[in-house]
Amino acid sequence: MEDRITGVMIYYYFVCKRKLWYFVHEISMEAENENVMLGKLLDENSYQRGEKHINIDNVINIDFIKEHKELHEVKKSKAIEEAGIWQVKYYLYYLKQRGVSGLKEKIDYPLLKKNLLVELAQEDEEQIEQIISDINKMKNQPLPPEFSEGKICTKCAYHDLCFI
Ligand code: SF4
Repeated sequence: MEDRITGVMIYYYFVCKRKLWYFVHEISMEAENENVMLGKLLDENSYQRGEKHINIDNVINIDFIKEHKELHEVKKSKAIEEAGIWQVKYYLYYLKQRGVSGLKEKIDYPLLKKNLLVELAQEDEEQIEQIISDINKMKNQPLPPEFSEGKICTKCAYHDLCFI
């Protein structure tokens, strides 16, 4: 299993720990998920005028850089906003570790025509280090966390695994 911590793992950490366990154990069903496909479609179609999709070390995926020192992440809804915020804070943390600091990131919600500016505070860095440590521990856990039904289960790609 790889050591890398990706933006998606940080996102799942806040969405559902069981989903995160499936993901870090490379049980992947996301490709067939309609919501993921909608997200991909938005990636491709909402911002077509010269912006880029950037992948750094296969760890973070940034939707585009609009202006100097501002990264952008596209989300289709604010339903799981906290998870999205921590995902982009992790991007800022990751880049800072590699010597690129002073960045901000804007989360765009094109369907809502809204956006949110995210910056990285000192206490965020401490929390991210704790999250990374938790995710690394989860990689060594042989079984997923106990199932607990939540509102997002009906839209989750792992639904069938949890509801057998
Ligand atoms: S179906 Fe629900 S409990 Fe299972 S992984 Fe998905 S969100 Fe988590």
